[in-house]
Amino acid sequence: MSMIPWFSGGASLSDEPQPISVPGHSLPLPAAFSDLAAQPTRPQTSLAESTPMDQGLRFFNRPDPSMLEPETEPADLEILLPDLQVLPPFDLHLKYSRQTGKTYLRLAITFWNNGQGPLELRGVFNPASRQTLVWQSLYTTGPTTREQLAGEFIWHPGHEHWHFTNFAVYELWSVSADGALDRVVASRGKVTFCILETDILDSERPDFSRRRSYAVCGPGLQGLSVGWGDTYDSDLDGQLVESTGIPNGIYALVVRVDPANRILEADDANNTAATYIEFVEGRLYVYEGEAQMLETLRRCLRLC
Ligand SMILES: [Zn+2]
Repeated sequence: MSMIPWFSGGASLSDEPQPISVPGHSLPLPAAFSDLAAQPTRPQTSLAESTPMDQGLRFFNRPDPSMLEPETEPADLEILLPDLQVLPPFDLHLKYSRQTGKTYLRLAITFWNNGQGPLELRGVFNPASRQTLVWQSLYTTGPTTREQLAGEFIWHPGHEHWHFTNFAVYELWSVSADGALDRVVASRGKVTFCILETDILDSERPDFSRRRSYAVCGPGLQGLSVGWGDTYDSDLDGQLVESTGIPNGIYALVVRVDPANRILEADDANNTAATYIEFVEGRLYVYEGEAQMLETLRRCLRLC
């Protein structure tokens, strides 16, 4: 395994992760979260998930680093990193809003964890800044767990639950005559998410568990176990890119997770997926894949 830089931080967030200041220590998964019954839907309204701030966070208070005994770890200790991946956006359709007078391209997305360890995000309320900072837990082949500062949980008034900040971007790209991405023509940047397990993507792997470990949108704990995915349906608040006035032509709707690279994972090169579409006189055509889009371009170049 390659060398893993350890990040941690102080009370404030910056664009770049800060050098770690907390020695590795054990963070066992709380039993209260490991025994949750399956709830395969994501209601927009509040769940019992909205754990009261003091109750939800007391559990996760970090011990004073100065009180910890330095731990000796075996040299061959491996980090069980998550690997976030995203599927091409689906259920694409155009919606006109009478309220805003604008047209929107709505989309559903599924992202999942194809790594060796869970994506685990723990919120810790910082009374000084009134922020709920998010620490990513990193499990190892040994008994210890590392953590690094990854972002913030914020209350989402539309969804009425807690979201992890800056988790994805949606971009609409124009496509050049050879099929390459040309430039961004519309964007919905810095999409926030509640990250929880809604779908099983790979149950064949030996370390897969059907028991859901991350099932609520609270400020204390969110995440994705290995093999589990999280789907955001197209009718959810915010699942859109504005498409008002975009000219006829072929475009790529590109979704990227962890765009600011705040999450430590096994592979940062597989965080993007695209679906190719065409706008024709205000109507939407969705291509089955890149090959079909390229064939259309090729025929047009030959015939046009
Ligand atoms: Zn939400």
